[in-house]
Amino acid sequence: MASMKKSDSLLNSSGVRAAHLIERLGRLLRAGDHAAGLNPAQAEALRYLARANRFSRTPAALAEYLGSTRGTVSQTLLALEAKGMIDRKANARDGRSIMLEVTPSGMEFLGDDPVRMLARTIEAGSAASRLADDLEAGLRTFLAERGGRAFGACHTCRHFRLNQRSGNHPHHCALLDEPLSDADRSMICLEQADG
Ligand code: SF4
Repeated sequence: MASMKKSDSLLNSSGVRAAHLIERLGRLLRAGDHAAGLNPAQAEALRYLARANRFSRTPAALAEYLGSTRGTVSQTLLALEAKGMIDRKANARDGRSIMLEVTPSGMEFLGDDPVRMLARTIEAGSAASRLADDLEAGLRTFLAERGGRAFGACHTCRHFRLNQRSGNHPHHCALLDEPLSDADRSMICLEQADG
C-alpha cells in the first residue's frame, strides 16, 4: 500500500509533468524541423555545429553528442552538404582530420529555428536560469547512468584559464594548450570537464 502511494505521487509529480512537457516540446520541435525541410537528425547536427568550438566540430564529436553511429552521422553530414548548409575543411591543428563549418545558408536556417522561438519564450518567463540548471542536472544524471559526455560550455571547464592575455585570444585551454577567444568561452566542447 505504501509503495502504491509512492508511485501514485510520482505519477502526479511536477517532475513527471515536466518530463512529459519536454517530450511533447521535443516532438513539436522535430515537426518544425520537417516543415523547414530538414529531418530532425540534420537539424540537430546543424544546431550542434553552430554551438560547438573548433575542437569539437568533427564527425566523431558530433556522433558522440547525438549518441549516434559514425555511419548515420556521415549520411546526415552528406545531406547537409548537399543542401549547402555545411562545409568541410582540413583541421588547422593537424592538417589531416576534418573540421565542419556551418555556411551562411545553414546560419539562415538557424535564424528561423523553432528552438530559438522556444528559447525566447522561456527567457520571458520568471525562472529561465533555474529551469536551465535543473534540466542540465537531469541531463548529467541521465548521461552518468548511460555513459556519455555532457558537452558543457567552455567557461565551466576545469581546464579553462581566464584572461591570460589581451587581444583576440585572451583566454587559454590548459588541456589542449590552445588560445581561446571571448566567443570560445560560451561554446560547447567535447572535452569539457567540470571543475
Ligand atoms: S578549456 Fe575545456 S572546454 Fe574549453 S576548449 Fe579546453 S577542454 Fe574544451
